[in-house]
Amino acid sequence: MATALPSEQVRITTDPTTEPFWQAAKERRLVAPRCGACGHFRLPPTPYCPECQSAEVDWVELAGRAVVYSFAVVHGFPGLPDVTLVPAVVDLPDAPGARLVSNIVGVDPEAVEIGMELTVDFHPIADGWLLPVFRPAADE
Ligand SMILES: [Zn+2]
Repeated sequence: MATALPSEQVRITTDPTTEPFWQAAKERRLVAPRCGACGHFRLPPTPYCPECQSAEVDWVELAGRAVVYSFAVVHGFPGLPDVTLVPAVVDLPDAPGARLVSNIVGVDPEAVEIGMELTVDFHPIADGWLLPVFRPAADE
């Protein structure tokens, strides 16, 4: 079963550009920065829009849905030989054009496939932050 790294193994640093993303995650909300001038989503967060160079940004709350764009299966991690990780790049349907690098958890790695629908969850990491991770979307 794919999992996430133990909390103490994951440390983040924030800066004024990325902190709103992490503050929202701490409240179990997934947000994405959308250019205030042209509407282009920019993830990972950047100070200036790559499309129009505007520094204006609106933080948009997403429903937490994602779709697998690309993934890998990693067996073992330094000091954790038995862990299985599924790092993935996911598309965010509510933020067209934006992709997030994350981990898929709670799934048999054999079952993961491109296009699989996911839903966000939040995994505790160092210093009290929460990391957005993704699980298979519940069958309707
Ligand atoms: Zn823009």
